[in-house]
Order: sequence, then structure tokens, then C-alpha cells
Amino acid sequence: MTVEPLVTHPDKVFWPEDGYTKLDLAHFYESVFPELQPYVQDRMLALERCPDGMGGECFFQKEAPKGMPAGTPTKLIHHQKRAVDYVVGGLIETEIALVNLGCIAVHVWGSCASHPHQPDWVVFDIDPGSGEFADAAKAGLLLKGALEAMDLVSFPKTSGGRGMHVFLPIQVGPDFDEARSFAEEVGRRLAAAHPDTLTVEQRLQARGDRVYLDPFRNAFGATVVAPYSVRRREKAPFSMPLRWQDVKPSLDPSRFNLGNFKKHLAGSDPWQDFFKRRQSLGEAVKALHRS
Ligand code: ATP
Ligand code: MN
Repeated sequence: MTVEPLVTHPDKVFWPEDGYTKLDLAHFYESVFPELQPYVQDRMLALERCPDGMGGECFFQKEAPKGMPAGTPTKLIHHQKRAVDYVVGGLIETEIALVNLGCIAVHVWGSCASHPHQPDWVVFDIDPGSGEFADAAKAGLLLKGALEAMDLVSFPKTSGGRGMHVFLPIQVGPDFDEARSFAEEVGRRLAAAHPDTLTVEQRLQARGDRVYLDPFRNAFGATVVAPYSVRRREKAPFSMPLRWQDVKPSLDPSRFNLGNFKKHLAGSDPWQDFFKRRQSLGEAVKALHRS
């Protein structure tokens, strides 16, 4: 596919400090689409549109925009107050059309169109109060240990911001409440064991510099950025899937960016087994209560 004819204002500078244009962003998603595809396939997307790039005004949009390419899949979702017709990912044409509308990041649901109330992953959103990735990495490694003690396999990635996201692929069945309760309980226990560095405190002020383990991304309609999603930040970092052995406090998450992504995609896929490792949340809950 040739993306050039699909991008209007291709030379618009989206990252003034780094010089990357809208077309550079389209080329990034064209290149990484084989890797990104499994994490957007059949999934509802929330759109964060930044028509003037990272420095300009951005707005969130849920409803599928007019003018998407013919054949773009959508899914009508009934929320409490209204129904929203969401764009569903999976096609490269969809992704490039979204870039053309100014979507820098790719925000995905934790569930798919065929079972919107039942997630197929549990996500731990690790937010360092200090703003230091090093603190998120240390918390991530503690979380990995706690999950491993329950025989659970987890997959880490940089968020592209200051924190980390840890994913636990699960078999479809339980609803978001069950996924969130599990994440909450794991977080609560870990924070109780490391009260000086970790917290599950919802009040921002009470957290201080500690790392917040946020369970609330496990909710109907909540999103997290997909692996390989670019972020609206200087250097145009993207969310990089990692192997646990590469998660280190010294890692600078902005080293994975639009300027050097080919180098980082050259090796084998650190999340290669992700969808082969779907685990039973029911068993995980049992293991948690045994521990
Ligand atoms: P960081 O590591 O800097 O925290 P992040 O992507 O985890 O980056 P969060 O603010 O922790 O950012 O948010 C977690 C997820 O929630 C995001 O990845 C995004 O998909 C979603 N999100 C954040 N803000 C909004 C918003 N205003 N509207 C909708 N979804 C949002
Ligand atoms: Mn976060």
C-alpha cells in the first residue's frame, strides 16, 4: 500500500522539536502495522485527535468520524446514557485514515467487538508519582514477581510516557469487574508489602512520590495505549513491548521513538507468545487467595 495519497498536509510538522511530519507518522504506522495489528484487531478504539500535532490542541472522540474509508469496521456500543458507534481496528487503511485525522496515539479497549463486556487481558497501569521511569520499572519488577508467584505470565511495555503497562492475557469469560477486582487485590497486597514505594491510593495528594498501581483501566470503555502506539510527547516515543529481562531502572523509555524504530523492531518480537498465553482469571483468583 502507498500511504502518500491518503495523507493530506503530509509535510505538516507534528513534532516541532524533532521535525517529524504527519507523513513520518503515517510511515511509522505503515511499517509497524504487522506488529500492531494483533492488538487492534476487532478492538474498539478511542480517538485522540491532534490535527496540529503534538503541540497543538487535541480532543478525544469516541464516535467513528465521518469520511473513514469504505469498509471500516465499527461497533455500536450501548453505554448507560447513549450509544456510540466506535471504530474497530484491524485494517491498515483504518490506521492510516486515523493518522490523517490527527490521531497520534492508538487507544484500545481491553475487550473485542464480539464480547465487549469480557476483556481478554488484565492491564496494570503503573504510574510513578515521581515521574521517573526508574520507579515504574522497579514497581513493574515487583509486580512481575508477585504474578510469577501465582504461576502467571505477564508482558511489560513502556507506555511511551513516564510509566509502564503490564498485561496479563486471559481467556475470554470473566467481565471487567472481575478483571478489575483481581488487579485491585494484587495491587493492594503489593502496596501493603512495599508501603514506602507503592500505593493504590486513589487520591492524588495522598500518593506523594510513590508509584500508583492503577486497576481502573480494567473497565468497560476504558482504554490503554496499544503496543507500538506513538505518544504526544517530545521525541515521538512509542509504547515498546519488552522482555522482562530488559526492564531496568536505567532504561530511558524515550529511546524507542519515531527516529529509530526500525532498529528496535529488527529483533524477535518480545510479545510473540502474547495471545498463546491466555490464562484463566478464575485460576489466578484462586491462586491469589491461596497465597
Ligand atoms: P504514563 O506512563 O505517562 O502514565 P499512560 O498512557 O499510562 O502514560 P495514563 O494517564 O496513565 O497514561 O492513562 C492510561 C491510559 O488511559 C492511556 O494509555 C489512555 O489510553 C487512557 N487515557 C488517558 N487519558 C485519557 C483521556 N483523557 N480520555 C480517554 N482515555 C484516556
Ligand atoms: Mn499510566
